[in-house]
Amino acid sequence: MTTRHTAPRAGLVLALVVLGLGPTAPAPGPVGQPGARDQPPVGVAAGIRGDPQRVTTEETATSSMAPGSSAAPEMTGDLATRPPLAELESTPIRRPLPTIPKGAVPILYYHRAQAPPPAYTSWSRARQRSFIAYDVLPVALEAQLDWLVAQGYSTILPRDLVAHWTAGSSLPPKPVILTFDDGFHDWATTILPMLRTRHMVAEFYLTLDAIRSGAITWREVRMLAAAGNGIGAHDVHHVQLAGLGSGRPAASPAVMWAEVSGARRVIAAHVGIAPDSMAYVGGGFNPDLERLVQKAGYTTARSIRRGIVQTVANRFELRVVRIGPKDDVTDLMTGSLVPDLPTFAARMHGVSDR
Ligand SMILES: [Zn+2]
Repeated sequence: MTTRHTAPRAGLVLALVVLGLGPTAPAPGPVGQPGARDQPPVGVAAGIRGDPQRVTTEETATSSMAPGSSAAPEMTGDLATRPPLAELESTPIRRPLPTIPKGAVPILYYHRAQAPPPAYTSWSRARQRSFIAYDVLPVALEAQLDWLVAQGYSTILPRDLVAHWTAGSSLPPKPVILTFDDGFHDWATTILPMLRTRHMVAEFYLTLDAIRSGAITWREVRMLAAAGNGIGAHDVHHVQLAGLGSGRPAASPAVMWAEVSGARRVIAAHVGIAPDSMAYVGGGFNPDLERLVQKAGYTTARSIRRGIVQTVANRFELRVVRIGPKDDVTDLMTGSLVPDLPTFAARMHGVSDR
């Protein structure tokens, strides 16, 4: 079936979770692993101190993982009582599409590429929604990459953007940056082969908690780097450091520094290349955090603000295009897609409503 999907669009529903920092506090993370609270943080966390903080982040929903996967799901804290996720329907196609501004560099924002298991249809609706909320079907990702190739896009990395801004190096005529957040085995097993086949590269924003939980290994991360992909940082503990909910304080500068600088140092030690880019967990940032990100040695940072135009003034607030898990998908279980991916095409034109 390839009938066009015209259901109402999803709204953005933020999940709440109680996160803590420091050796004596619960260890938060996108991958919310059983036992994670009992283990010392990876590598660098000895210097991390801070009071447990309740934070708001759309990304915390990535804590629900596939049953049976090596990193099994476990709702913790407020995740267990969070508001239900909105319906994850395909976005209505808007025509005519807006003109793509000159100098646009879409940064596509993904997490994990995974198809629902056969048992998915027997799950509760809530479980179904939380499973797919931050995923992309492998067949959809593959079609999107093919669309980019067919349309003449070339993948670049954040560092290429910086070289263009600071050293005047040229960019390809239609540059695009692919980004993947958190850390999953499928980065190496599913996504890497897709990229290689098409001579593409991506920036993988790794949180160290994903290593600790076993959601991905250093060997897999090194494979990605060896293939020319960028390894960016995404905190030690997947903690939203700023931009918290109304009335809630940002993390202290010491905690920010430990998360931001610590993640960079550990990744450099294990991969052999210091990350030049980081992604704000939950998309939250403030001037203090931006300053520390720059001080730590990063040359860009990716927000989750929507947009396709990047500027040197916003190099620490790069804009993104969010790819919805059901964009152009007409049947989740069979992976049937709308021909020519009109929703994806709209997103590449800056149409972004999630
Ligand atoms: Zn994340």
